[in-house]
Amino acid sequence: MTIAAIAVALVIVAAIAVVLARKGRAALQGPTSKAPSALGPSPARPAVAPAPSPPSGPRAAPAGTATAGAPESLAPSAGVADHPAQVAPAKSVAPSPRDITTLRKGLAATRGGFVAKLAAVFQQKRELDPATLQQLEEIMLAGDVGPKTTQTILARLGESLGRTELRDPDAIGAALRAEARRILGVAGGGGIRLTGKPTVVLMVGVNGVGKTTTIGKLATRYGADHKKVVLAAGDTFRAAAVQQLEVWGKRVSAEVVKGKEGADPGAVAFDATSRAKEAGADLLFVDTAGRLHTKAPLMDEIKKVRKTIAKALEGAPHETLLVLDATTGQNGLQQATMFRDALDLTGVVLTKLDGTAKGGVVLAICDELRIPVRYIGLGERAEDLREFHADEFVEALFGQADGPIASAS
Ligand code: GDP
Repeated sequence: MTIAAIAVALVIVAAIAVVLARKGRAALQGPTSKAPSALGPSPARPAVAPAPSPPSGPRAAPAGTATAGAPESLAPSAGVADHPAQVAPAKSVAPSPRDITTLRKGLAATRGGFVAKLAAVFQQKRELDPATLQQLEEIMLAGDVGPKTTQTILARLGESLGRTELRDPDAIGAALRAEARRILGVAGGGGIRLTGKPTVVLMVGVNGVGKTTTIGKLATRYGADHKKVVLAAGDTFRAAAVQQLEVWGKRVSAEVVKGKEGADPGAVAFDATSRAKEAGADLLFVDTAGRLHTKAPLMDEIKKVRKTIAKALEGAPHETLLVLDATTGQNGLQQATMFRDALDLTGVVLTKLDGTAKGGVVLAICDELRIPVRYIGLGERAEDLREFHADEFVEALFGQADGPIASAS
């Protein structure tokens, strides 16, 4: 073989090696650079798999800048590893596990009380015989589930379980959770929907249940979401209530509309609605006096407030939320009945669930009144208000603290 032939052979081998190397690299990068991301096709996507960078982002690197063979998460792809802003969207689109731990912590008292007692019955591995049924009934009544709802749950348990399942504590537990989920899943639950501009939210409830605090928490949440919020100090009877609202207003930079002490709450609500409209606010929260639900004139007054708001803005208030203190148990249920009969309630905010071992009252509210729970309060801080969702609530209440998030069905 001549030197020329050897040189030609070497060139051919080198060319083949280059082609093979390119193919190999394409195979490594292919799936990440071609697969459409959750946000749509990303032609200029770098090789860090979970980070969908904007297609025309200034730092988007051309495909193929990753180091072939390096583990993908460590590959120094330009424009990703050194630019956290581009990594951030991946977090928001990735299916994040529900923050059930915080909810579980907030419900610790009820988990340790009413729920722990129920669990103890099942741990005895007993069948659903009359004695067990009676035990369950007593626990549920003590946990503020209420007589009517307790009967409904127990009757349905018996109906839904087959003969063999009646002897299976796991099956009974699962049926109980499914029943709780059915009861709590009243249509219309979850957070406020912004259906108006402004969306007017009227807060009602007796004294001390947490109306003003809940308004402050909601204002904080929507303020952080860049919504323009106005607050109406409709509790004109107590100077302290107005001051409390002003403190929240200052904290979240929300305008507070107030009247003179003892002013007509309807007039304050009217002014606040007009002001919120004029200011282009997204939300107006109207605080009201904690009137005694048993005193008809006071109930009439709140109906008047409602009508006045409607005069200032057609279709308002969009939400009338009854705030109930979970620690008041069955008394809270009575309050709810009176308020529901007097006003068109769109939901309940159940506060102070962190302070009761009898959180079963939430089942009674949903079952007997068919009013959806919209938020729950798990403490005094702004972040302690949580949108209510039946599935996660049941899971946090009945699920195992250290186990995986099991299906509630
Ligand atoms: P209002 O009279 O209905 O306006 O009630 P407030 O908003 O003044 O609240 C009465 C008290 O309940 C205050 O001390 C609040 O901090 C407290 N509070 C409100 N919500 C919660 C909650 O979810 N958990 C706990 N532990 N305390 C709460």
